[in-house]
Amino acid sequence: MSENDREAEDTATREKACTKCGLVRPLTDYYRRKVSGYVASECKGCASHRSTDWAKKNRARRREISQAWVHRNPEKRAASYLASYVKNKSRALASQARWSEENKPRHRALIKKWRAANKELVRESWLRRYARVRGATTAKIPGWWMAVLRADPCSYCGRTGGQIDHAHAIGGGGAHSVENVVSCCPRCNMSKQDTPLLPWLLRRAI
Ligand SMILES: [Zn+2]
Ligand SMILES: [Zn+2]
Repeated sequence: MSENDREAEDTATREKACTKCGLVRPLTDYYRRKVSGYVASECKGCASHRSTDWAKKNRARRREISQAWVHRNPEKRAASYLASYVKNKSRALASQARWSEENKPRHRALIKKWRAANKELVRESWLRRYARVRGATTAKIPGWWMAVLRADPCSYCGRTGGQIDHAHAIGGGGAHSVENVVSCCPRCNMSKQDTPLLPWLLRRAI
């Protein structure tokens, strides 16, 4: 029986024996070449075992092949990355929510610990929220930059700073952004409030 005859017979019976495990399986259990329609000799299960084994033994080569594929198919890669992100995100969020619901005291303690360790991030998010609820455009400011500003002397009077001011006040249409935040002392902060920068500086000078 020729290869073609065998193919024809396999297709007619809709099943064939896997050359690896020897089990007779329906043709849907075999991979098939898209163009030629050629049905693989090993069943899907055996083929995937073989490729997993191969990948384990040839890690470097496996990585090369997948990197080359990503290089040739950047859009496919991005799409599959996004799909798995979306798919797993809701599951991850759900399991996180479940965990925090079941471990309330522990969850609260963890939040407290994180906030204590990330004071600048917490302050920044409060400042950003303050700006957002007043309709300002906002952009995240890195915690390390907040720390730098806070350690600087006041930009307006040169005394010890410790606070952060939006130079172009949020109430006057200023943005919450790296370009618009400066170091400030409590006194200047209280006095300036929403006054535009120039009039405030002039008022102080007189
Ligand atoms: Zn098999
Ligand atoms: Zn000052």
